[in-house]
Amino acid sequence: MTGKLFSETIMKNLNIVSFAGDGIGPEISAATLQVIEAANQALGLGLAVTHGDVGFAALERHGHTIPETTMEQARNADGIILGPCDTYGYPVPPDQGGANPSSKLRLSLDLYANMRPSRTIPGVPSLVPQMDLVIARENTEGFYADRNMFMGSGEFMPTPDVALAVRKITAASSKRITVAACEEAMKRRKHLTIVSKANVLKLSDGLFLREARAVAAQYPDLAVDEVLVDAMASLLVRTPEVYDVIVTTNMFGDILSNQASELAGGLGLAGSLNAGDTHAMAQASHGSAPDIASKDLANPSSVMFSTSMLLVWLAERHQRPALKRAAGLIDQAIFDTLANPKTRTADLGGKLGTRAFGNAVCARFSTLANDPRDC
Ligand code: ATP
Repeated sequence: MTGKLFSETIMKNLNIVSFAGDGIGPEISAATLQVIEAANQALGLGLAVTHGDVGFAALERHGHTIPETTMEQARNADGIILGPCDTYGYPVPPDQGGANPSSKLRLSLDLYANMRPSRTIPGVPSLVPQMDLVIARENTEGFYADRNMFMGSGEFMPTPDVALAVRKITAASSKRITVAACEEAMKRRKHLTIVSKANVLKLSDGLFLREARAVAAQYPDLAVDEVLVDAMASLLVRTPEVYDVIVTTNMFGDILSNQASELAGGLGLAGSLNAGDTHAMAQASHGSAPDIASKDLANPSSVMFSTSMLLVWLAERHQRPALKRAAGLIDQAIFDTLANPKTRTADLGGKLGTRAFGNAVCARFSTLANDPRDC
């Protein structure tokens, strides 16, 4: 390969598609994209951001909350940023146009690893003194009726007064989420906690545990322990500082991660990445918060942190260290902005609106990016 061709290859633009979603989605997505654009300009990241429709905007324009045009954009993108979706308000049944965009994207793109960090931030009020952990949540099966069947739903009612739900656990999915968790733990404090309810769900969680143990055994440098999910809920409150990476099945991970993020400072800080082998999607852990939508009140940190996780994923996938540096600077800019009580949003007792908070993070980012000592 000639030098010219080589440099063109490595400088190829990466296409990031943003789906703003419902409720507070458009506001927190706009504030996040402002920070991404600042990083793109300052560090020459080669990111090209495009937009697409999901949720009510897509329903109005295309008759479906996740139309094929949106799926096409997602499949072709190098990275996706999904805003929260107000799925409660969508038409039922879903085949009348109201499918859940989040689960459709997770399933179609096989985004099996939902990585959900929760960490206390110096200077920011939290319910526990110290926490810095990641919950690796299996994303494609479990109790989730909209994704655990090839055809039909995992929930059904044999009579008007009896409702049944199927929980699907497979060896393959248990294995790959544990690989993702072990890899993450190897980059961190090298401690893996396997969470299940295998004492009661002996077959399904027994299978998850069998696979998780087998994978973890391949990582001799990891300290591995096992905790039952009910005990884990207590231990997250009592000794959260002990935990590093927690791997668990879909619903347990969903619940524990909301608990962890609330303990660490609040849902407005809760970022996450849905990652597969070929695609990744940044997505806040919280919902669309319709109660504060269109009021310039929402905290966009959750999507900003999620997007920074996406940049790290892209940096590793495309060997572009500048993206990793950008992610570090964005995280630090958010930490610094949150640490000052005068530049916090209302959920953290501050007075800044979503837009003003985005401006403050951008300003801090510029300062950090121009600091020769870096951060
Ligand atoms: P959905 O029906 O989409 O799940 P929800 O309001 O039931 O929405 P969440 O959106 O997860 O559930 O949020 C619960 C509460 O947490 C909201 O009412 C809101 O007050 C608060 N909240 C969530 N996200 C944020 C945010 N980014 N900034 C500020 N407050 C938030």
